[in-house]
Amino acid sequence: MDGRMVVLLLMLSILLLSPAPVGGEAQTVHGLTVKLSLESPVTLRCLGPVTLFYLPSKGLAPSPPLSVAPWQEVNGGTIRHQLTWRVDLVDGRIILASEQGDVVTTDLPLMLCSPDGSGFELNGACYPGALILWPEDGLVFFNEVGLEDYVCGVLGSEAYASWPLEALKANAVAIRSYTLYSLGKHGTFDLCDTIHCQVYRGLPEEAVFRTAVTATAGEILRWQGAPINAVYHSSSGGRTRNNEEVWVGTPLPYLRSVEDFDHDGRNYHWPQHYLFSWAELTRALGVAMDRELHLVPFFNAAGERLGFRFYSYLTGKQLRNEELRRILSLPSPNFRIFIYPEETEITQAATLPPGTNLLFTGKGAGHGVGLSQWGAAALAGRGYSYRQILRHYYGPEVVLSESFAFSRAPRLVSW
Ligand SMILES: [Zn+2]
Repeated sequence: MDGRMVVLLLMLSILLLSPAPVGGEAQTVHGLTVKLSLESPVTLRCLGPVTLFYLPSKGLAPSPPLSVAPWQEVNGGTIRHQLTWRVDLVDGRIILASEQGDVVTTDLPLMLCSPDGSGFELNGACYPGALILWPEDGLVFFNEVGLEDYVCGVLGSEAYASWPLEALKANAVAIRSYTLYSLGKHGTFDLCDTIHCQVYRGLPEEAVFRTAVTATAGEILRWQGAPINAVYHSSSGGRTRNNEEVWVGTPLPYLRSVEDFDHDGRNYHWPQHYLFSWAELTRALGVAMDRELHLVPFFNAAGERLGFRFYSYLTGKQLRNEELRRILSLPSPNFRIFIYPEETEITQAATLPPGTNLLFTGKGAGHGVGLSQWGAAALAGRGYSYRQILRHYYGPEVVLSESFAFSRAPRLVSW
C-alpha cells in the first residue's frame, strides 16, 4: 500500500475516534510497563509487522495503571516496518516520519504492538514487546515487556557477559525478585530504565544472558511468602551493609551485613580519590562558608561509622554515609575522610576552620546492601552454585520459589 495512503487512513481513524469493529477477541498482555529514557532524536525501526492502537484520552491518569488502559486498535492501522522512522513531538502531536516520506501523526497516546514478537529497534537497541508513545510536556516512551525478557535486558545492562554462569544466574534471580517487589513503583508505570530502579537498555546481544535467565525462569526469592526487595550492588568493598544502616527503615532479615568476596573485583578500590575544596564542601552541605564546621561521626553497636553530624553557624544536619555519597557523587558509602594536605583521618569529632580541604578515599561501588555482583562472580569462580551465592548474600530465611508464574492482572486490548 502506498505510504501516503496509510498516513491518510491513520489520521482519519485516529482523529475521528471511530468505534472499533466488534467481534474481535480481547488480547491479553502480561507485561511490565517500563519508562524509557531515550536520547533525542529518537529513531525507530519495527523489526516485524506492527499493529497500532490508540488511547482515546490524554494525560497520565494516576489510576488505573497504564498497563490496564483501554487501548483500541486503529482501523487499518499498520506502518511499513522495513523503514526507519524519526519520532518527535511537535506542538503536542506525535510525529513519526520515515526517510521515504511516510508520516504518522496524532495527539493521542499511541501503542505499537508486534504480533509476531519481533519487537523494535530504538536508537539502535532492540526492545521486545510493545512500545507506547505518550505525548506529555515531552514525548514519553514506555516498553510493555514480558517479565523474562525484562530480566534478560536488565541482566545484560547490569552484569558482564564474562562472569561465570552461576553468578549470572544468581543475578537473574535477584533481578526477577526485585522487579516483582517493585511493581507499580512509579504509580502509572512499573519501573524506569535508570539506576533509580534497574538499568534496562533493551535485549543484550550476548547469548549467555538469555541462558542464565532461561535456566532460572520463574525463580524468585521469597520471605514470608512475598517477593523480597532483592537489592544488589556492584561491590561492597569487603563487607555488605545492613539495610537500616544505609537507609532509614526496618531491619530486614535478608539484608544483613555479611562478608564479601569482591577483593579481586574491578570495583573493590575506588578508581580515584576525591578532593573537595572548602567552597565545594560548604556549598554541597548547605552550611556557612565563613564559619567553622564541626564534624561528629556516629556509629553502630559494632563500632562501624554510619555517618556524620555536621554543625555550623545556626545550621546542623545528620547525614548517613549513603546520603553523603549521593550529595558528593561518590562511588560508594564505604569511605574514609582525610584533612588535606595534612592527611589526618577524621575518626572522631573534629572542628574544621574555614579553608579546610577534605580528601575522600574508599572502596566498593554502589550502596553495599544485598547481593554483591563482583562478590557473586568470585564465589562462582570458586565453584559456588547460584543457590549457594544467593543464600550467602540474602541469608537462610529466604526461600527460592521454583515455580513462580507471573500472575499480574492482564491488560485487555479489545477491538
Ligand atoms: Zn525508577
